[in-house]
Amino acid sequence: MEKLGKKKIVGIFVALALVAVVIGAFVLNNGGDAQFVPYAQFAGWVDDGLVSQVGLGDAPVISFQLHNSENLYETSNPRNPMLTQELLMAGVDVVEASNFAGIAGFLPLVIFGGVFFFAFRAISKNNGRGAMAMNVSAVNTGETAVNFAAVAGNVEAKDMVADVVDFIKNPDKYARYGARMPRGMIFYGPPGTGKTLMAKAVAGEAGVPFYAVSGSDFVQMYVGVGASRVRELFKKAREAGRAVIFIDEIDAVGKTRTAGVNGGNDERDQTLNALLTEMSGFGSGEGIVVIAATNRLDTLDEALLRPGRFDRQVEIALPDLAGRQDILNTYAHGKPMEKDVNLHSLAKQTVFFSGAMLENLLNEAAINAAKAGKETIGQAEVDKAFYTVIAGSEKADRSGIMEQDKRITAYHEGGHALATKLLSPENSVAKVTIIPSTKGAGGFCLNLPPDKLYYTKAELERQAITLLAGRAAEEVVFGTENVTTGASNDIQRVNALVKDYVTKYGMSQRLGLAITSGEKAEDVCAEEVGRLYGKACELVKRHKDKLSKIADALMEKESLNEDELDLLIA
Ligand code: ADP
Ligand code: ZN
Repeated sequence: MEKLGKKKIVGIFVALALVAVVIGAFVLNNGGDAQFVPYAQFAGWVDDGLVSQVGLGDAPVISFQLHNSENLYETSNPRNPMLTQELLMAGVDVVEASNFAGIAGFLPLVIFGGVFFFAFRAISKNNGRGAMAMNVSAVNTGETAVNFAAVAGNVEAKDMVADVVDFIKNPDKYARYGARMPRGMIFYGPPGTGKTLMAKAVAGEAGVPFYAVSGSDFVQMYVGVGASRVRELFKKAREAGRAVIFIDEIDAVGKTRTAGVNGGNDERDQTLNALLTEMSGFGSGEGIVVIAATNRLDTLDEALLRPGRFDRQVEIALPDLAGRQDILNTYAHGKPMEKDVNLHSLAKQTVFFSGAMLENLLNEAAINAAKAGKETIGQAEVDKAFYTVIAGSEKADRSGIMEQDKRITAYHEGGHALATKLLSPENSVAKVTIIPSTKGAGGFCLNLPPDKLYYTKAELERQAITLLAGRAAEEVVFGTENVTTGASNDIQRVNALVKDYVTKYGMSQRLGLAITSGEKAEDVCAEEVGRLYGKACELVKRHKDKLSKIADALMEKESLNEDELDLLIA
């Protein structure tokens, strides 16, 4: 841009301004050419926060505009007197229909202003990159492409994304069957667990370009710039045909919209809306997949997670023992490690380390060896690196109290697993682990048969006992004084479940079907929770030998799959 002469720039200006005026005039005179959409579509867009302004009047149609486009739309006028209020509640600007053309009439000015603003910024930046310049790195997939082999561990996650790779390669194959493949996936898990790496591997395996941006690039900018960056990003991907678009830190744009003082962050909302619109815009035969990464799934706006958007959520968890061993082997490969360096015991020492920390550890060890002028990397260099890495990480203190922590967690999770196996053998336990997941403290996930219409009273009780068995195991094994805060999520869930049991399903002995709420119902709930907890403790005591076996195995291997669990209990 700086190569252009001043005159040329002025020329461009005038041309752009003319274009703007022509477009504006076109919009003004062509109110009748607005695109018509069904009312249901309109209502959906309002729900999704996409509609910016509606012109309401007595005419059979109402006109409206979306946040992210200059196009004019029309839909049938439902002539519902409540509509104005509903729209206002949804944050939509409502204007009298007779004034609506006024917005369009304003357009040339707005466009001209916008053009002027951006052109000015572009000129004033001596590097020639204005606010509109896209900070997208297109990684070409040559021989250096990352593929699944580069991702160590993460076995479950790889399984979950494998079919998406095939979809990107052969979109037509799926389109022919009318299959709706995911347009978006969310990778969630702690930092440094390989989310970016996995997304690159998806692109690498599919042999398509990889476009990466970070959600934080989109915010803290002038209103409208984030949205236009999103559109530019998708345009690039479309031009490439098939592609993987990667958005790191999606929470920066996709956080739950909180009502209240900081509720209206226009910039973020517009960016998010632009993203959703772009995603709903590509057809099933296109072979473009958007992968977003976040550390916290629970903070994301629900709108992002709906079907047709980021409807596949893949957890990328901290590696368990086998995963860490795998990652260490990967990065030791190609380094001159001495034979006596014991990677297995290093893997055991590095509970709660992410893949990035493990990679860093071996890299530090290599640097230590180089500094010391040694030919090879020995145990001393590795040990030194271990302390360097934990010193730079808040996880350090966790590693210190790790043994006792691990023991309690092993019994807690073991309690849940034992109860599931004994009480509800029809439920599967895909995996028990003591590596914390982002979903909750422990790694245990209670799997309920999802396709049930009704639960019986006995089933609900078994669920409650299973939820309580974690805390029960802590108390039975370590004593009343030593129970931990680790059960808080379980306890919340049990209380919700028992409340329904008593006050919705009329299943308690004392209240029966007289399901009033109030003090009495609260008493009854407390009583029921106590009764069920008693049962959980009883169960744990009776099968303490089995519980100990499970806990020991968890201490040793950190996670157990269903077969291993069955063997221990048999
Ligand atoms: P995230 O996106 O989850 O924060 P990254 O993908 O950026 O994590 O990981 C950072 C680095 O850590 C990677 O480039 C890689 O060197 C290493 N790493 C993390 N997890 C793994 C893994 N499972 N296998 C191999 N390397 C890993
Ligand atoms: Zn628990």
